Amino acid sequence: MGGANLLLGNIIREREPQEKEQQAQIDRMNLINRAQHAIDRYRHQRSLLDSARILRNPELVTEASERLDVAEREMNSALDEMGTFDQGSLTTVKRALVEFPRQVERTVEAVNEGDFAAANRHFSEVSNALDLIEKTLQSAVAREQTKADIVQQEQHRRADDGIRSSAWIILLSTSIGLLITWAVLRSIIRPLRTTVTALRQVNAGETFMDLPPISRDEFGDMAVALRQFRDQAERLRHLAFNDPLTGLGNRASLDQSLQSGIETCRREGQRLALLYVDLDNFSGVNDSLGHSAGDRYLCEAAGRLQRFVPMESLVCRYSGDKFTVLLEGLEDGESLKDRLQSISEDLLRGLSEPFEFGGHHLPMSVTIGIAVYPSDGETGEQLLSSADAAMYASKRSGRNSYRFARPELMADTRAQLDIATEMRRGMESREFEPHYQPIVDVQSGKVHSAEALLRWRHPVRGLVQASTFIPAAEATGLIHALGERCLIDVSNQINAWAAENLKVRVAVNLSARQIESRSVIGLLERLHAEGEVRVDCLDFEITESAMLEHIEQARETLNHVRDLGYRLSLDDFGTGYSSLAYLQRLPLDKIKIDRSFVVRMDSSKEARAIVSATLALGQSLSLEVIAEGVETKAQMEQLKKMGCSLQQGYYFTPALAPVEFVKWWSNFESKPWPATGATQVLQ
Ligand code: C2E
Ligand code: CA
Ligand code: CA
Repeated sequence: MGGANLLLGNIIREREPQEKEQQAQIDRMNLINRAQHAIDRYRHQRSLLDSARILRNPELVTEASERLDVAEREMNSALDEMGTFDQGSLTTVKRALVEFPRQVERTVEAVNEGDFAAANRHFSEVSNALDLIEKTLQSAVAREQTKADIVQQEQHRRADDGIRSSAWIILLSTSIGLLITWAVLRSIIRPLRTTVTALRQVNAGETFMDLPPISRDEFGDMAVALRQFRDQAERLRHLAFNDPLTGLGNRASLDQSLQSGIETCRREGQRLALLYVDLDNFSGVNDSLGHSAGDRYLCEAAGRLQRFVPMESLVCRYSGDKFTVLLEGLEDGESLKDRLQSISEDLLRGLSEPFEFGGHHLPMSVTIGIAVYPSDGETGEQLLSSADAAMYASKRSGRNSYRFARPELMADTRAQLDIATEMRRGMESREFEPHYQPIVDVQSGKVHSAEALLRWRHPVRGLVQASTFIPAAEATGLIHALGERCLIDVSNQINAWAAENLKVRVAVNLSARQIESRSVIGLLERLHAEGEVRVDCLDFEITESAMLEHIEQARETLNHVRDLGYRLSLDDFGTGYSSLAYLQRLPLDKIKIDRSFVVRMDSSKEARAIVSATLALGQSLSLEVIAEGVETKAQMEQLKKMGCSLQQGYYFTPALAPVEFVKWWSNFESKPWPATGATQVLQ
């Protein structure tokens, strides 16, 4: 813009002398006009003289010559003024004028003398002089005209120059405009566009992106804010996809990686493996040593997992004490199974070292379920449930082990769902009923108490054992309704027997799910309030293997139950890992030695050692000890010899419906003990 101003300034400055020159020209033309007018007047006076001359009237001639004098003076003065700019013309005119008065005088004299021919001659000389003056003036006018033309041409030239300049100015301003637009594009739109793109990338979860530079203007502020936004978004994303305790990826991270991994494998025709890893002892550690020990234990396990998996795998904490290992880009073939086996064995070995914490040597081990894409599932969800089913199957067959998913395992899961559906129908039709298995005191030969075991009187399958449907009920949550029904039925039965003067203590099994949800407390309080339940006749059994993710919470619930007056047994003692921790922390009255030890007592020294150790423990803790699954006379007698007088099992009888139970009971007690005729009854 400055350039344009300069240009205009120049044009304006150049116009100033031009205008002066124009004004001078006008002044000059005015002077010339004045001279011409003076000449015209002179010529007029002269024609008067001429008339006087022609009339030959001397008086008139004298008067005309006097007027001619005046006109001559005026003409002289006008011509003098003209001399200021046209000296050349003035000299010529003046020379011509010098002759005038003399010729006029001579003309007057000639007229006075009557010499008209002479007067005529003198007069025409004046006319000639006048013509000369006029010509001179005309050429002065012509000169001025030429000058004026030149000035005009100059003006036109300048005007043309002006137009050219204006065109240049317009061109220049357009260019400047374009330049400014370009600069705006560069300095506003480009950073804005980069910012918008970066924001979109941040939103899409990308980490690396072009960010606008941190300039010293508002865009610089925006660039700084954008960086802060990106960092914040990264922090949030980290939180959303990472487990804060172990720093591993979380479930969301696994879901995402599984999805993208499956897509890649589908494209490339590769395999993907998902290892579902469950810590075997976590709840024991967490419950017995507290949460901070539990946290350290989990972190240690997470660290070991990462150390022992192959470099390219992704370890996530799926939930609680469950981890996953994702292996992508595997080639199919015989070696795949070997590779996964060796990875799993490395993990079992790598995690098996006890973890030292606060002077304790905490055992650490894992159970692993392995699922492979696509044979065990085509989606992340299917792979997870296959690996989960494999892990549980592996756990059931003993911990610290791994197992590959198989269709049958998934079929188990599906079968459980089918069972649960069928159970719902059965519950509405009141097909479930408790049966009673006696617990016998082999010293006295009397029935000590009984255990209530649920049976399903199925319209097609007949009488179904609890072991067939309780796991499905626990897995699907039906156990709560079923347990409630069972407890009410048992209470009613106890009351009915009491009405017949039969007093028997009955133990009802409580699932860990019922204890955890505390549903049992509400139910007991309600039965209490309604006077439906006899505290002195009801015990509860808590199965150790189904225990108990949160021992502190379980302890509270069980304390409550015990405060109501009920007694508690720890079922299946010795099969779980936390038996001793439970003994220490739960309010127990009895322990039940698991059938697996009783069965192996004949053949296994260890089994016998465990049984006798449990008996000693019971004695020292003042707990009653009951042996389960006694099937033979030999087992009965050996247990009796070891000091275990409370026994239960098929050797005496399987669980019986109430009427049969009473019959069996009176029959059993009516015979002398030790019975010679007690027969082994197998179901
Ligand atoms: P449990 O509490 O350990 O019950 C003992 C199981 O062993 C019963 O199986 C019983 O029939 C069986 N049994 C008893 N004596 C012998 C024997 O000498 N030899 C053999 N081989 N088995 C024997 P059942 O009735 O199928 O119950 C299985 C499990 O289901 C029970 O194990 C218990 O944990 C659970 N259960 C049963 N009834 C209920 C219930 O009403 N509520 C809950 N929550 N669980 C129940
Ligand atoms: Ca039991
Ligand atoms: Ca048991």
